[in-house]
Amino acid sequence: MTQAGLPVPPGLIVTTEVCNAYYANNKQFPEGMWEQVTAALQEIEKKVGKKFGDAKNPLLVSVRSGAAFSMPGMMDTVLNLGLNEETVTGLAEQTGDLRFALDAYRRFASLFGEIVIGVAHEKFERVMDRFKAHSGGERLDTDLKPDELRGIIAAEKEIILAEQHTIPDDPYEQLRVAIGAVFNSWMGRRAIDYRRINRIPDDLGTAVNVQAMVFGNMGKNSGTGVAFTRNPSTGKKELYGEYLLNAQGEDVVAGTRTPNPISQLKRELPKVYEQFNAITQLLEKHYGDMQDCEFTIERGKLWMLQTRTGKRTGAASVRIAVDMASEKLIDRATAVQRVTPEHLDQLLHPTVDPKTDARVLATGLPASPGAAQGTVVFSPDEAEELAKEGAQVVLVRHETSPDDFHGMVAAQAIVTARGGMTSHAAVVARGMGKTCVSGASDLEVDYSQQQFTVKGEVITKGEWITVDGSTGRIFLGKVPTVQPSLGPDFYELMKWADGFRSLTVRANADTPHDARVARQMGAEGIGLCRTEHMFFGDKRLASMRQMILADGTGAREKALEQLLPLQRGDFVGIFREMAGFPVTIRLLDPPLHEFLPNVDELLGELSELKMALRHAGTLAAMDHLLDEIDEKRQLLHHVNKIREANPMLGFRGCRLGLLFPEVTRMQCRAIFEAACQVKGERKQVMLEIMVPLVSISEELKQQAEMIHDVARQVTGEHGMKIEYAVGTMIELPRAALTAGKIAEHADFFSFGTNDLTQTTFGLSRDDSGRFLPAYVDRKILSDDPFQVLDREGVGELVRLGTERGRIVKPNLKVGICGEHGGDPSSIAFCNEIGLNYVSCSPYRVPVARLAAAHAALDADATAAAEAAVVSAADEDAKAREAVGVAK
Ligand code: PEP
Ligand code: MG
Repeated sequence: MTQAGLPVPPGLIVTTEVCNAYYANNKQFPEGMWEQVTAALQEIEKKVGKKFGDAKNPLLVSVRSGAAFSMPGMMDTVLNLGLNEETVTGLAEQTGDLRFALDAYRRFASLFGEIVIGVAHEKFERVMDRFKAHSGGERLDTDLKPDELRGIIAAEKEIILAEQHTIPDDPYEQLRVAIGAVFNSWMGRRAIDYRRINRIPDDLGTAVNVQAMVFGNMGKNSGTGVAFTRNPSTGKKELYGEYLLNAQGEDVVAGTRTPNPISQLKRELPKVYEQFNAITQLLEKHYGDMQDCEFTIERGKLWMLQTRTGKRTGAASVRIAVDMASEKLIDRATAVQRVTPEHLDQLLHPTVDPKTDARVLATGLPASPGAAQGTVVFSPDEAEELAKEGAQVVLVRHETSPDDFHGMVAAQAIVTARGGMTSHAAVVARGMGKTCVSGASDLEVDYSQQQFTVKGEVITKGEWITVDGSTGRIFLGKVPTVQPSLGPDFYELMKWADGFRSLTVRANADTPHDARVARQMGAEGIGLCRTEHMFFGDKRLASMRQMILADGTGAREKALEQLLPLQRGDFVGIFREMAGFPVTIRLLDPPLHEFLPNVDELLGELSELKMALRHAGTLAAMDHLLDEIDEKRQLLHHVNKIREANPMLGFRGCRLGLLFPEVTRMQCRAIFEAACQVKGERKQVMLEIMVPLVSISEELKQQAEMIHDVARQVTGEHGMKIEYAVGTMIELPRAALTAGKIAEHADFFSFGTNDLTQTTFGLSRDDSGRFLPAYVDRKILSDDPFQVLDREGVGELVRLGTERGRIVKPNLKVGICGEHGGDPSSIAFCNEIGLNYVSCSPYRVPVARLAAAHAALDADATAAAEAAVVSAADEDAKAREAVGVAK
């Protein structure tokens, strides 16, 4: 902005390299830095015609962070630095405004105390509240008289003294410790938390910006504000923001006074408004993206303090991208790249059911959209603790400060009683895609009683509330929510994204309902239908158990007879929903423990029955109980007989289908009967049958023979021809290594990266949750490998399996259907190694489509950059040749 000639207060920057040197050097400034700072400070003095520390004409500076990635509110800032008992008098004389000078001093003292010395913010807040309430009635801080301000400053100094500290009188010393404090805030808890969530590396470091102060608190023609070039909630093209007259920056974001909408500035200070509006448009055009600008007006003169790419909601992100492409500000590829997977995720969040007649408890500002519910908590620590135990909580605060960040991360939603649309709570929640209602001023929050009151009604900790961040409403209790209906911008953007990607995106769907949702989300087929999931639900589970526990083939066939029509019915529904799209049905892969009754529970039930037997009154009752006991004992016996020490590595997948061929036969019969029925309805069935947990090529060969056999039988019975493919999951290291041999019997491969991760790491899918987070915390692993594909190990097996399979069958279709199929970074890897498709849960499909487009665009950009390097080298070689220089 400075280079563009915009009005920016002069300043100096201590670079991020210094921050890293500071940490490498035991928190000492590197040699020579201080001299450079003081030299640059002299330049600032010259530009503004004031002197740092001068008793008559003092220069004041702000000291703030500046990171490569915007981390709003996560690090520390000290304003009005350079004030002491002498310079404050100078400032009063220089400005002719004693009240202003004292106000600046009391702000400096509390900020310095809080940020540099580490005194709790509340202590200073209490002083302010005490003085504001002093002469009766609620007053604003602008109402405070010079004497009262002097009292506040004295009280603030006492607080600092009580903690055995003082504010240095020497402005240079103030500056030195303040720079150190900003560096220290890079490693503060909230900054670290923010970086972890936003995947910002820890070693980037922060710069420190030291800038001449301009003052928004110099009377009615001064002020300060924040504005976005487009509405950050909806994306609408309008200047959107807030300002306060006679105030300093933190007053707007801290929510201590309720700011005015920026449109009002047009009436109050029309010239300033026009200038500001023109500058923001220039900035948006220059950066080609929506800007978030901070400004201060000092006695009618506009100063730009900051511009950065504005944080926005998912809905706004999509609208802004589509609008900007239509305005020819950016091209379509850039528009697609602008929308992040997280944004789309947010767009797909639920909203409160519009038909609800639930009572609205209170209404605040719609700070961050989405609907969420939880039990009320008032402390961020408690929010974090309860969330760790799996509870859903809503964090309710007067207003939030950056110290609340960990609680905000943990909560489902955030409610504040004070603060505007750009308050800390609103900005941070929007950035996280978390539901938030701010400024719900009817709420009287009482931390000590752990309750809030709304018009006499008391809500205490632990009660459920539902928060609608799209409308600002807060409901008592759990209110039904609905999935969002996606607007035309979303569909337009997805259409563009689909045009760029080369990966096909399918869904993992086990029921006709899932299949319908998957199509609505744009899935181009089903990549995994887990047939064992069709048996969740009481009645079905009982038949499934009977089948597993059956003693001998006869009993098993009987149980299978009951399962067949259920399976066939589901397949019919799925084929209908997916007419014209491929459907991969996986044969049964039940890790037995998921379907068997729990032994401890069975033992408990048995002892209860025995107890009941002792107290049975009649012979008939005894008989009945004895029968039941007998049944339970038999069940226990069976369960014990087939119980496995390691069910994940046990009798599952194709092992079951090979040793109990009647299971595979029943399933194939159900599949082909359903296929014949739906084809008979003149719908296109594109069937793929997939064999799970293969590690030996012979397993697939034998299962494939069985499938072909049943296919011949059923299609013969129906007099129909059904085209189908037979393929396999590659989810064990041996399968990946021997993929060449396996490919001889496979029409397609689908990588089951859940099991492949489990077996490559030798890390149980069921138990890893206990210690993997600690591995990530300690940076032993960069990510949980069950979430993000481990490229180095598991990914290498995927690459190798694909290559070996395609040596034998060059056109082998290869996809992925583990959870990684919906993870953007894993999708990029799949794109890189040339897979044909990814498959993920239905609601994740739009995210996967977008991520696949990003992957393709990134790959194009890399290829273009490489081509440019090659052609530059060629040019160079030609040039050398032309002048006869040898290589
Ligand atoms: C896998 O292992 O990645 C997979 C998709 O199968 P499941 O999760 O059903 O074991
Ligand atoms: Mg698996």
